[in-house]
Amino acid sequence: MRRPLVAGNWKMNGSREMTEILVSGIGSGLPESDAVDVVVCPPFVYLDLCSATAGGTPIAMGAQDLDIHEPGAFTGAIAADMLVDIGCEFVILGHSERRSLYAESDADVGVKASVAAAKGLTPIICVGETREERESNVTADVVCRQLDAVIDGAGIDIFPRALVAYEPVWAIGTGLTATDEQAQEVHSLIRQRIADASGQAAEGTRILYGGSVKPDNAAGLFSQPDIDGGLIGGASLKAADFLGIIEAAIP
Ligand code: PEP
Repeated sequence: MRRPLVAGNWKMNGSREMTEILVSGIGSGLPESDAVDVVVCPPFVYLDLCSATAGGTPIAMGAQDLDIHEPGAFTGAIAADMLVDIGCEFVILGHSERRSLYAESDADVGVKASVAAAKGLTPIICVGETREERESNVTADVVCRQLDAVIDGAGIDIFPRALVAYEPVWAIGTGLTATDEQAQEVHSLIRQRIADASGQAAEGTRILYGGSVKPDNAAGLFSQPDIDGGLIGGASLKAADFLGIIEAAIP
């Protein structure tokens, strides 16, 4: 059985004060059950404080991106080695905001996944279709194309350690959520696509759902057979909401 995981993507939100309050609030409110892996992904500049605040709790930490190069003359960039050094175990890759606002291609995400895995980080690889793509009935094509680029670029062996997050772009930050059935349909497709390369990898890979997950819709989504937890944006910025979603992921 796959262990559920709930990750919070803070995006470009936070402050030192918020990091301390939020991480200690999550840490002190975690359910007694330790059946769910919990990850928080603050902006780079708050990772160190997050790590110090989360110390002694089961909260793991992730970054929201990485640079593929070895440390050196890459002004403004953050290397995978630095993320490991500061205590990150996870890294979100290919978030739709990075794809649309920073022109990250499918191939870029594949290379990043390869570097992350080689450096010992666990990639959380985001895939998902826009509203126009869903309305044009090309959801499967888009999601498979994004996933194939990762399998081609990083190899199937990064799974089942790597995670996939299905995040329909039309559901991110909009308050619109895929129905449980819509999400399950795409999750099952993703698992099948991984299975085409390796059945064992597919069986173990955790596939998260992301897109306006809240405490009141999380349980329905997480009860689907191929949904193994969530990647949470807005609701990860409030300890009570994030904790409610973690509770909903307990099997
Ligand atoms: C996200 O950005 O990864 C996300 C899922 O955001 P939200 O939960 O706010 O829709």
